[in-house]
Amino acid sequence: MAGGASQQADTIPKIVDARKLVQREQVLSGTVPASALDRLLAAVESVDGDVRAELTFGRDLNRHMAVEGKVSCNVQLLCQRCLQPMPESVEAGVHWGIVWSEEQGKSLPKDLDPVIQDGDELNLYQVLEDEILLNLPMVAYHDEECVARDKFQFADKSEEQGEQRENPFKVLEQLKGSSDKS
Ligand SMILES: [Zn+2]
Repeated sequence: MAGGASQQADTIPKIVDARKLVQREQVLSGTVPASALDRLLAAVESVDGDVRAELTFGRDLNRHMAVEGKVSCNVQLLCQRCLQPMPESVEAGVHWGIVWSEEQGKSLPKDLDPVIQDGDELNLYQVLEDEILLNLPMVAYHDEECVARDKFQFADKSEEQGEQRENPFKVLEQLKGSSDKS
């Protein structure tokens, strides 16, 4: 593909006719404004910058209309330990088979995820948003120890219980050991 550099800042169109893009073997590379993705905005603390996507339309070896590519973005999630925002980058592979009904989708090979186009309109933002939401981590924790251990009451209690359980055992073993030897 020629002229790729000038495409990079393009905004991905929201509504496309995937059938036409497949015929042209179109490559879409650009960004989706995060402000257009309400469900993503509701699922995270914030979205840093815009969502980036690269999509290649074409026929696969079995002549299925397919879209291959990736979508990625940077978000802030709440750390479940300290409840402070933490950055997370999300990247999802795109392996779509374009169909017009759920029935058609069932006949796709397993390596293609069915994406149902409505007539001659496919809402790309919606399906790209789906991919990101599917790849968001369920829970997030800072890599570093963001809360000092002595302030972490739950851990303190379980440690104490652990010691209490451990001590009688050690005493028993010592008793056993001494009785075996003597
Ligand atoms: Zn944290």
